[in-house]
Amino acid sequence: MKIETLPEEFIKAQPIIDTIEAAGYEAYYVGGSVRDTLLGLPIHDVDIATSAYPEEVKSLFNRTVDTGIEHGTVMILDHGTGYETTTFRTESGYQDYRRPDSVKFVRSLKEDLNRRDFTINALALKTDGTIIDYFDGLTDLKNHRIRAVGDPEKRFNEDALRMMRAVRFASQLNFKIDSETIAGIEHHGSLLTKIAVERIHVEFVKMLLGQWPAMGLDVFMETGLYQYCPDFKAYSDQLDQLRNKLKSGLSNETAVWSLIAATFNLSWQQINQLLKHWKSANQLIEDVQTATKAVQAISTQSVDAWVLYQTGKELLVIANEVAYKLGESSYETTALIAQYDALQIHSKKALAITGQDLMAAGVKPGPQLGQALNYLERQVVDGQLTNQNQVLLSTAINYLNEKA
Ligand code: ATP
Ligand code: MG
Repeated sequence: MKIETLPEEFIKAQPIIDTIEAAGYEAYYVGGSVRDTLLGLPIHDVDIATSAYPEEVKSLFNRTVDTGIEHGTVMILDHGTGYETTTFRTESGYQDYRRPDSVKFVRSLKEDLNRRDFTINALALKTDGTIIDYFDGLTDLKNHRIRAVGDPEKRFNEDALRMMRAVRFASQLNFKIDSETIAGIEHHGSLLTKIAVERIHVEFVKMLLGQWPAMGLDVFMETGLYQYCPDFKAYSDQLDQLRNKLKSGLSNETAVWSLIAATFNLSWQQINQLLKHWKSANQLIEDVQTATKAVQAISTQSVDAWVLYQTGKELLVIANEVAYKLGESSYETTALIAQYDALQIHSKKALAITGQDLMAAGVKPGPQLGQALNYLERQVVDGQLTNQNQVLLSTAINYLNEKA
């Protein structure tokens, strides 16, 4: 088959392929960009596969970066765009269920496509629009099916991450996973424990960001794959509820984990633990803790000024989305933002008084001064006090006198 009009991204990359071909090698567009074009979806990055060896690729272009040269990947820089260009290769070994023991560069496109995970990802595209399809990927695309290239049992045994990739593509594309491929996941789920948690994390989040999360979650649950993800084993009921409730994907990673935390009913401490086990960054953990608290307030309709203030605008929007997607009560986003915007202050810095002012009025530096500022902050946020220097000063002095 032939694509009549190629997306602009491919047209822009054509000089790269032309240069490689002019030197006597083959080069094709491969991977997600080809699949997504055929599905009429926007494409992110254009990946190129070539028969030229990495050193040969490098000799043809002025600006290249060795992004993964031991696996044959060189990034070619062209007018501000980077093109990952990977030499055709086969892989063998996989004794650790995740990385091939050896990568062998080959000159055959078919051998390269043969090592790819799913048939819909094993298509190659020529610059004239011709699609090369050795494994019936076009039929699977048409039938909305995810099917391993070759024997799924073998392919998941080679690289267990592919099982997570299967469920995330199901959720991103609204595709069904082929029954033999599902059986492969059922048989090999436990191998996921051999995979670096960071890589599982990426795929899990992509699954819940996909537009049809239930498509992935169904298989994730039914095959038992979830049990081999950090800390998920004890939460099968909650994950099951989630797949029934969740009708569309989330908009960012903080929302994903806040949804999980709210569904599992986790405490502040438990969120920290779970996300540490999932190898998350500290900032993400803090955001999820804050957002999850706000989800509870939103769904129990107990949002007050202090909750708004402590959560902050960005996390409020996220928490509101999570409450909505969980089918809990939630707000009109604009109304919630309006309530937040109406607060007198949005940070402690905005208080119309400083520690300096209090000291100038005779307050001694020390814990009391901090307590007085905290008191003022709370009173101003709650609307009990006007944010005016004189008002705050006299209130602080009364407060400290009463405490003394
Ligand atoms: P996305 O749109 O998310 O980037 P993608 O299909 O491009 O999806 P990538 O992770 O960018 O996915 O990988 C590019 C291509 O490399 C895939 O389409 C597939 O052909 C191949 N590939 C990636 N990971 C694996 C793997 N674990 N096993 C086999 N082939 C893989
Ligand atoms: Mg890609």
